[in-house]
Amino acid sequence: MLKKLLGIGLLLALLIITITTFGKSEKTYPDEEMVTVQKLNEIPELPALDTYGMNVSDYDVTEDQIRRNESLYVILNRHGVGPETIHNIQQQARGKVNLNRMIPGQKYRIYKNDEEEATTFVWHRSATDYTTISWEDDIAIENGSIPETISVASVSGTIRSSLANAIQAQGVSQRLVVELANIYAWTVDFYGLRQGDNFKAIYENRHVEDTYVGIGRIKAAEFEHRGHVRRAYYFEYGDQAGYFDAEGNSMRRAMMRVPFDYNPRISSQFSHNRRHPILNQNRPHYGTDYAAPTGTPILASGDGVITEAQYRGGNGNIVQIRHNSVYRTAYLHMSRFASGIRPGVRVQQGQVIGYVGQTGLATGPHLCYRLYKNNTPINSVTYDFPPSEGLNPDYMDQFLVRVERLDAMLDELDASDRLAMN
Ligand SMILES: [Zn+2]
Repeated sequence: MLKKLLGIGLLLALLIITITTFGKSEKTYPDEEMVTVQKLNEIPELPALDTYGMNVSDYDVTEDQIRRNESLYVILNRHGVGPETIHNIQQQARGKVNLNRMIPGQKYRIYKNDEEEATTFVWHRSATDYTTISWEDDIAIENGSIPETISVASVSGTIRSSLANAIQAQGVSQRLVVELANIYAWTVDFYGLRQGDNFKAIYENRHVEDTYVGIGRIKAAEFEHRGHVRRAYYFEYGDQAGYFDAEGNSMRRAMMRVPFDYNPRISSQFSHNRRHPILNQNRPHYGTDYAAPTGTPILASGDGVITEAQYRGGNGNIVQIRHNSVYRTAYLHMSRFASGIRPGVRVQQGQVIGYVGQTGLATGPHLCYRLYKNNTPINSVTYDFPPSEGLNPDYMDQFLVRVERLDAMLDELDASDRLAMN
């Protein structure tokens, strides 16, 4: 859920990033289908059974889609199925499938036998998932799915105005922007992307039969931001999976840089000496102020234990979290705490701990966010956070083989890039 929120927040921000200093037009590259991992087997003879296991020569098949205000009852009744049969179907469906969840636009099929009696109904709950309901003899209800086929594609480009625009210009789903933003959320400042930054991605396209249903996983990606190249590789091992750099370090960080699911405006930077807006005297500001509307959820930037949740003078409602023996964070001026937030309670990264307010000494609603390393305040905006747990060394050999192969694919993109530029 958090990842999703983060992604959507980042996407919104990306959509509004514009760099106005240069007016160069978007450079586009042709889509590249690199490797087809899996192909539908070609069947030499006409299949006796259709996708749903029905012998098509025995039936007359009607294909249609669910319309507004249509229910199973309405559809089956129109095809001559009696109320009693429909009632029995609904009884038998309990615990297997919710027949009340029919949504306009979903596809369905009706199979009729030689006597033109409807005997089977196939309801497509999604492009892949379907339910077959048969009442020719006894009522039989079964859920099935059409296997997806995956092909591998790649995209690369140079950012002219925004990552979202650069990807859109190549006809690739905006979902890819969200996924890239998730992978790099901890390591690249997506809000600081600028004209001339380069990106590459090797990703999956999902198809059901001949229909494209969306992008799948990003297998590898590269970001060149301000001349610094970062590659990320997807790797699954045991029951864990994630993105790692070439050395097997996690692309995630132990702490989130910003304790929100979006990136609010910084209204006051970390500083060893600033003029206090209310006290009007110079004193250090050992935090970053984020201007945000009252009530905006504040997230725990890392796993940890609440050590303080109370009203304390100029700090207003403050929450402190001890993450480990080295790091702790503090969140000031909250309007209120999230329920259950009190000293001793364990929280997880991304969990809502309270809401933005202006309690204590504050001129407007904002969060003063403070990060301490060994009790010394440090600047959370510029600090290079340590990575989350890296790859299990047992899998390193296997991982490096994969990295080598993905590197070759990414390098290949490099070459085609240069070709396109010339
Ligand atoms: Zn502050």
